[in-house]
Amino acid sequence: MRREGLGGNYLVGSSPKENEEPDVSNLDVDHEFFQEKVWPHLANRIPAFEELKVSTAWAGFYDYNAFDQNAILGIHPLVTNMYFATGFSGHGLQQSPAVGRAIAELIFDHKYKTLDLSALHPDRIIMNNPMLEKNIV
Ligand SMILES: Cc1cc2nc3c(=O)[nH]c(=O)nc-3n(C[C@H](O)[C@H](O)[C@H](O)COP(=O)(O)OP(=O)(O)OC[C@H]3O[C@@H](n4cnc5c(N)ncnc54)[C@H](O)[C@@H]3O)c2cc1C
Repeated sequence: MRREGLGGNYLVGSSPKENEEPDVSNLDVDHEFFQEKVWPHLANRIPAFEELKVSTAWAGFYDYNAFDQNAILGIHPLVTNMYFATGFSGHGLQQSPAVGRAIAELIFDHKYKTLDLSALHPDRIIMNNPMLEKNIV
């Protein structure tokens, strides 16, 4: 959760556990999920939230690399002028400064110079060698 502006509003969210994932054919908000799985934790941590009132809610999709929930970065194994920078699985914003720098180095210098991100190369998919992300949200 975080404060949203200065008007006493807060933005709160949570991902369901894998076995709780809702049907993806619609984006209806599951209000029960908030009541049962989110609100009790909030109120436990911050007792003032026992009094909260929900004003708006939305549900949405995350991009998701189903292979290992990690970025896929680097040059295509066969197409020599195609670079991947994708598959971020919900943590792409925080990684984007490093990824931008690393991919720029690959393009201009043909190798990583300041950060070695070669473990995230798409080869790991071909070799069936997942680098599992444990902190997927
Ligand atoms: C609700 C939410 C909260 C998030 N919170 C965080 C967070 O707190 N921290 C964090 O690190 N990450 C967070 N993320 C994840 C982060 O936003 C993504 O990992 C990141 O934006 C992915 O960047 P990207 O450039 O790979 O893809 P995108 O940002 O999805 O960009 C892809 C672009 O390609 C365009 N496109 C798609 N198809 C085509 C086509 N055929 N032709 C031309 N253009 C096309 C799209 O319009 C889009 O502009 C969050 C994501 C969501 C949805």
